[in-house]
Amino acid sequence: MFEKLNLSENQQKNDKNADIEKIKCLIIGSGPAGYTAAIYAARANLNPVMYEGLQPGGQLTTTTEVENFPGYPNGITGPELMEDLKKQASRFGTDIRWGLATAADLSSRPFKVTIDGSKVVEAEALIIATGATAQYLGLEDEKKYAGSGVSACATCDGFFYRKKDIAVVGGGDTAAEEAIYLAGLCNKVYMIVRRDELRASKVMQERVKSTPNIEVLWKHQTKGLFGDGVVEGAELYKNKGEANEEIVKIKIDGFFLAIGHKPNSDIFKEYLDLDEVGYIKTIPGTSKTKIPGVFACGDVQDSHYRQAITAAGSGCMAAMDTERFLSENA
Ligand SMILES: Cc1cc2nc3c(=O)[nH]c(=O)nc-3n(C[C@H](O)[C@H](O)[C@H](O)COP(=O)(O)OP(=O)(O)OC[C@H]3O[C@@H](n4cnc5c(N)ncnc54)[C@H](O)[C@@H]3O)c2cc1C
Repeated sequence: MFEKLNLSENQQKNDKNADIEKIKCLIIGSGPAGYTAAIYAARANLNPVMYEGLQPGGQLTTTTEVENFPGYPNGITGPELMEDLKKQASRFGTDIRWGLATAADLSSRPFKVTIDGSKVVEAEALIIATGATAQYLGLEDEKKYAGSGVSACATCDGFFYRKKDIAVVGGGDTAAEEAIYLAGLCNKVYMIVRRDELRASKVMQERVKSTPNIEVLWKHQTKGLFGDGVVEGAELYKNKGEANEEIVKIKIDGFFLAIGHKPNSDIFKEYLDLDEVGYIKTIPGTSKTKIPGVFACGDVQDSHYRQAITAAGSGCMAAMDTERFLSENA
């Protein structure tokens, strides 16, 4: 591109320099963690700048009813809750901007974060609140029935399926945990497992086996879902690719994915410690990463709880850790 425009290397550098902005506190991500960090950081006079990313408001904007966020006795929709958080963060002066962080250089302070591949923001402190993305099978029906029977969060949505029949997809520890949790609420839980064994730990396998209303469908894979507007059942391959392959149907009201999450941490992996899945490691009990001045909060660093309220709580911690860091390292 530069060749086409006939710009010299020096001109390129100058042009880039012209698009550098220096700020005190940068927050990447606009889910419950990012907005809560913004509310606290703005009220502490850190003049936070937030980039919202491709999903302004984060994961909760993809759901309807949120019944477990404290303070809303009648529940609230995900988009409304996130709009309220945004208003609260704006009220105290957070500079909320549309934009995606596409690269990061955390080798020294100020930290340099590239936005949309061009603009560079230099921040004295950085709060990473980029969340995690639930993995889906990639079936058209998952989109068709999103919020109408398809869920990637048992803790969030299990309550809506009390005394009903549901299926959980996956064979790892998370799937086993979610199946056991749902078995406490639902009439019947099918576990759809691709192999003839569970990847889950022995302890979890035993707990699955001893839960009477869980039925494991070994060597089954989902072909599709059916139902009039909402999920009423699933079509499954049994023994896919083998001589005895057949298609079976189960009647279910809910279809829960438990095949993992992908933390949005790729652009930081060169500098920060991540676990084997990609969750950013923080010092226990804090939001501190291994780089002083870089903090992580919410689902991007939490493989365990993954709830809006825990994300919000850790966003508060990140802003308080940032405030202390900046006052000690002005
Ligand atoms: C369908 C569904 C229903 C749910 N229901 C509930 C519920 O009822 N109750 C509950 O407590 N929890 C629920 N959850 C879980 C809850 O949504 C998450 O735990 C919570 O949103 C995590 O917050 P977060 O701020 O860490 O990240 P997220 O909400 O994932 O937000 C991440 C943010 O980072 C931004 N981002 C990512 N990468 C970049 C980048 N490179 N540059 C800039 N920005 C970036 C995104 O645009 C997004 O704004 C649900 C989740 C789903 C998917």
